[in-house]
Amino acid sequence: MRALPATVLAACGLIASACGAPASGGVTAGQAAPAASSPSSESSKGSSTSTGASTGTSSTGTSTGAEQAATSGAAPALSGKVVVIDPGHNGGNHRDPKAVNRKVNVLTQWKACDTTGTATSGGYSEAAFTWDVSTRLAKILKSRGARVKLTRAGNDGVGPCITERAAIGNRAKADAAISVHADGSAPANHGFHVIMPRKINGPVDPVVGDSRALGLAVRDSFRRGTGLPYSTYIGSRALSFRDDLGGLNLSTVPKIFVECGNMKNAAEAAKFQDPAFRQKIAVALANGLQHYLKT
Ligand SMILES: [Zn+2]
Repeated sequence: MRALPATVLAACGLIASACGAPASGGVTAGQAAPAASSPSSESSKGSSTSTGASTGTSSTGTSTGAEQAATSGAAPALSGKVVVIDPGHNGGNHRDPKAVNRKVNVLTQWKACDTTGTATSGGYSEAAFTWDVSTRLAKILKSRGARVKLTRAGNDGVGPCITERAAIGNRAKADAAISVHADGSAPANHGFHVIMPRKINGPVDPVVGDSRALGLAVRDSFRRGTGLPYSTYIGSRALSFRDDLGGLNLSTVPKIFVECGNMKNAAEAAKFQDPAFRQKIAVALANGLQHYLKT
């Protein structure tokens, strides 16, 4: 929804240019998945081990494709699927305001290349949070057979710009792409929401429908897997549609943003700083992506 400007400003990426984007700095798609790829190799493919570990603290009974494959001998659930994960912002963005504030064309407007993102009152940054959740998510998806690419290689660099974050998904011909964020709104606000693209008479138009389906699947799995409520301050039933995010406007593959909650809310901040809860988020996102990719 075209929410109020004030609300919009509060939202994570929104602040300047959105949550979405990246590019200045030079993370190329090719080097993108380091953290993700190495961990996955340690947990040999099918791994009920890794999935077990991931679900251990949380969603019991979430049977994964990998587990099914392990017992049946069939291919892993996400074999042949390509998923691009975009960890919002970057830990080094504050060091290079010139690069980060450079204006880029997101078709409906010009926005900053990227933003620094928000942080909890205690200083745990959104960039660190999105990096951790994204690498956990990558590991789970790989264990289920997907090919995974991240839009940045670590959490101490700058960018990339939102335009490049979208381009990485496009070049990978991703079956699904997800940009992971957390919001920085007023402390009383809480809950999560999913952002999907709107038609803009541009390149994203053909995937608006699929992106909506992806958003619904992730909304449902996130609610179920994390127990967090729908956002109390943005969207309707945790669903928001926007045409001002470069990461969505420029995507030619099905793509959504997830705002995992409000880092300025004390209860949610405490959860986000708990590694077991971040794992719970990653499992929930993986389940939502898998539900979309398998249907
Ligand atoms: Zn953000």
